[in-house]
Amino acid sequence: MRRERVSDDIYVFTSDLYVQVTASAIVTVDGIVVIDTLPYPQETSMMIDFLNGLRRGQIRYLISSHWHGDHTNGSCLFENVQLVSHQLCAEALLDVGARTLEDSKESQPALRDVEIAVPDITFDEGAMFLHLGGKSMQMILTPGHTHDSIVVYIREDKVLLAADTVMALPYFVWGDREEFIASLRNLLELNLECVVQGHGEVLLRGEIRDSITTSIRYLNIVHQKVAEVVESGKGSDALRSVDVESCGKSRIPLNGLIQDLHYANVEALYKQMIEAN
Ligand SMILES: [Zn+2]
Repeated sequence: MRRERVSDDIYVFTSDLYVQVTASAIVTVDGIVVIDTLPYPQETSMMIDFLNGLRRGQIRYLISSHWHGDHTNGSCLFENVQLVSHQLCAEALLDVGARTLEDSKESQPALRDVEIAVPDITFDEGAMFLHLGGKSMQMILTPGHTHDSIVVYIREDKVLLAADTVMALPYFVWGDREEFIASLRNLLELNLECVVQGHGEVLLRGEIRDSITTSIRYLNIVHQKVAEVVESGKGSDALRSVDVESCGKSRIPLNGLIQDLHYANVEALYKQMIEAN
């Protein structure tokens, strides 16, 4: 696990074990707020130990950005915290989240003791604030990667904890491409110094707008290119010609995983279009 600070009070933890997943913590005078957990219990425990070792107060809240296990598998390790999420996340955790966890346990013994933690506090509209120790944490619903995705904006620091709403490649197989575009457009309205992505490096001021605008462009181009394949009648083999670079994104970040995410997007879109025809 890698640890860095993006402001005086905000720590980011990055997994060494699974595609550079990030979790964050905001340390306030009235206690600590954690956003997401790391994929494997071992790394989440290291994060909890580190935060307790700061002697800056208790971990009081854990916010889940969305239901995916790589961001929530550690929730059951937190004691005496209030777990906060969107209501859609709470519902998804109990349904698809629980099923996916059982499947993962079969192939990954490290997840053996993981249990779904059910959120204590949920909101069912577009946003909710948590005010603690002089920090205003705004949770904003940003569907796209999944239907329940939220980001957390820390106004005082102009830091956005974006989870999988901001990644090197927008991945919408579990969500919705058009909603993703709208959510990313909304992020451009925020005054941002720093964005913590759900996977990979932290984005700094000069990189943020470019990353978000190329993601919006990608979401438009990939749709257009898959539609061309469908219209050409060449069949799904022709999807291989729709490579990630021709859609305006690099295939280099996240150790080559980008290609896999991209082709999963392409195949999901193709399937949608064929079914709609
Ligand atoms: Zn995710």
